Amino acid sequence: MSKKFLSGFLSVGVGGEAEVEIIRMTAGLTYHRGDIILGRGTNTVASDLGTDARVLVMRNIGAEFDGVNVTAESGTSLSALARATIKRGLGGLEWAVGIPGSVGGAVVGNAGAFGGAVGDSVSEVKVLTERGIVCIGADKLHFSYRKTDGLPEGIITGVVFRLKRADPVMLAECAAGYDERRRSSQPTGRSAGSTFLACNGISAGYYIERAGLKGTRIGGARVSDKHANFIIVDGGCANDIRLLTDLIKLKVYAEFGVRLKEEINYIGEF
Ligand SMILES: Cc1cc2nc3c(=O)[nH]c(=O)nc-3n(C[C@H](O)[C@H](O)[C@H](O)COP(=O)(O)OP(=O)(O)OC[C@H]3O[C@@H](n4cnc5c(N)ncnc54)[C@H](O)[C@@H]3O)c2cc1C
Repeated sequence: MSKKFLSGFLSVGVGGEAEVEIIRMTAGLTYHRGDIILGRGTNTVASDLGTDARVLVMRNIGAEFDGVNVTAESGTSLSALARATIKRGLGGLEWAVGIPGSVGGAVVGNAGAFGGAVGDSVSEVKVLTERGIVCIGADKLHFSYRKTDGLPEGIITGVVFRLKRADPVMLAECAAGYDERRRSSQPTGRSAGSTFLACNGISAGYYIERAGLKGTRIGGARVSDKHANFIIVDGGCANDIRLLTDLIKLKVYAEFGVRLKEEINYIGEF
């Protein structure tokens, strides 16, 4: 374990130092209360001050196929897993092609797109807690919009998906359509994906755009012109992102009386 800049582990490319441990194998791993877990860091912003906590970056990668069941290591790319399932004629994850996160991060936030969500296909989650490994069946979990309840505190080490047999050509066409829609609606550049959660079923981008905030910049953080719920980061620091999210919340509340809540996760003090 050594001090590293978290910027190197986050899609926004900013963030201060912490004791970082890269986890390639979960055998022998222990979890201590207060540890911070990172998957691919695509939904997370870390303070410029970093954190005193130990940060575990999950790079345990791999998947085993057994009929319609797939057991994936938590650090596996969700998008790569979705592509592998499509090739094998297994349906259920085709909406996930192009989502840049890990399997573990996707379970924590019940990642989803185009009407699909991770929780629809999960059958079991393995979590390393302070007391050891716990296997939780999907019947003990409650998946809702960008949220999974019922997970114990700890490190998700693996996830079992139960998928459905389907025609690989049809699945590939479906995934290509989703990927095209993603490319045409989402900006390129460094971001943490959608910044805010939808509010009462209305996308946060709707409010941000109508508040006239597209293109608004603070330091290196800018509201995307293409998709108002994306903050594009082209330099600067993590505090620029935080200041811009605060400004968006203030303006949207002043204009519409709507209190936006972050979808992104924060690490450390701001
Ligand atoms: C360009 C872009 C497009 C995106 N599109 C979508 C989209 O369409 N739909 C969508 O839902 N999201 C989208 N996202 C957001 C993001 O990719 C997802 O939320 C993804 O599931 C996060 O996974 P991650 O591994 O990057 O999580 P991280 O950012 O690393 O972590 C997110 C949370 O999960 C926790 N966590 C991660 N791994 C583990 C683990 N193994 N054990 C315990 N806790 C863990 C972290 O502590 C943190 O609280 C997008 C992001 C980007 C940058």
